[in-house]
Amino acid sequence: MRTPVYLDHAATTPVRPEVLEAMLPFFGARFGNPSSSHKWGREARTALDEARERLARCLGANPDEVCFTSGGTEGDNLAVLGMWRARRATRRAVVTTPIEHKAVLAAVHEVAREGGEQRLVEVDAAGLVRAASFDALVDDTVALCSVMWVNNEIGVVQDVAALAEVAKARGAVFHTDAVQAFGKINIDARSTPFDSLTVSGHKIGAPKGIGATYIRRGTPLEPLMYGGSQDQGRRPGTENVAMAVGLARAAELAVAEREHEWTKLETMRDALEAALLARIPDAVVHGRGGPRAPHILNISVPGTDSESLLMALDLQGVACSSGSACQTGSVTPSHVLTALGVRSDLGSAAIRLSLGSLTSEEGIARVAELFPALIDKARRLSGMAG
Ligand SMILES: *Cc1c(COP(=O)(O)O)cnc(C)c1O
Repeated sequence: MRTPVYLDHAATTPVRPEVLEAMLPFFGARFGNPSSSHKWGREARTALDEARERLARCLGANPDEVCFTSGGTEGDNLAVLGMWRARRATRRAVVTTPIEHKAVLAAVHEVAREGGEQRLVEVDAAGLVRAASFDALVDDTVALCSVMWVNNEIGVVQDVAALAEVAKARGAVFHTDAVQAFGKINIDARSTPFDSLTVSGHKIGAPKGIGATYIRRGTPLEPLMYGGSQDQGRRPGTENVAMAVGLARAAELAVAEREHEWTKLETMRDALEAALLARIPDAVVHGRGGPRAPHILNISVPGTDSESLLMALDLQGVACSSGSACQTGSVTPSHVLTALGVRSDLGSAAIRLSLGSLTSEEGIARVAELFPALIDKARRLSGMAG
């Protein structure tokens, strides 16, 4: 039996044993509600406060600047809608990129529906934001800019520090979706002037359904929900103590291992990329011309379609995804590749291989070996479908 190869870490990662261990007591004897004043409550409060402090330390933040959420999607919505609604009376516009995660794009769409104005900055063929375009769009009518740090489909890394500086100089607040950046890029709220930043637990070895959004002190924000004073009223509801503890533990591990992890993943990604290009010379790697995070490889093989290729890979025990996980079943190219100007036949052939804790050199070698035969099969399948 061949060992399966999981190459979909950008979709989700397994919970780390250290994280599970840290959480377990809070599913058992330490079940208290942090708002209760008795012993059980105080115990839960202490654990929650500690988790917040530890996560804050990982971000270069103060504990009161960390708001726990249910994950990346909620965090992006809270930041975009919450900060825009708090400033809409004086500034209506929002600047974002066409390659954001749907959580940001859909929140910005809602802003437009509520009377705001949406402005999309230009990106180049590698997905990098064009500085001149950003500069031209951010004027004194802009409430908020939202630019993701690392793209989840192609891995392009934006110059968040420079963009946040521009936003700040124009009086706009700056949010960044750092879900794919955390654990890869050095994130420090003391040295980079973002006002808000979103992370998600399940992309870094914590469970699904927990995340956090950094909100710089003094940044106005309207909550999305009402009902309690938890998290300063920014996120009412009894806190998920166990998962907050798990997120803090996962974040500490990710920060401690960050540089080593970058080198390790980059070496394996480059080896995989070189092996695939050597075997399939007409394959195209997307986002290759710009700065890229080391865990994402997005590649198109002409004459295939991503669904057929994914199926052929799955039959061999290799798991990866087409464009982004949220678009399975759709044959249209992803909005990210379209924004990069990728030809539509190439766009609908794109598959994303994403590396992480489960990736080994043997797994990489096996995928490289399997690929040529699978491509033949996928070309036949896609010929039949077409
Ligand atoms: C996964 C992801 C999200 C959504 O996070 P969830 O916790 O799954 O809601 C948002 N942005 C990016 C870049 C992601 O990769």
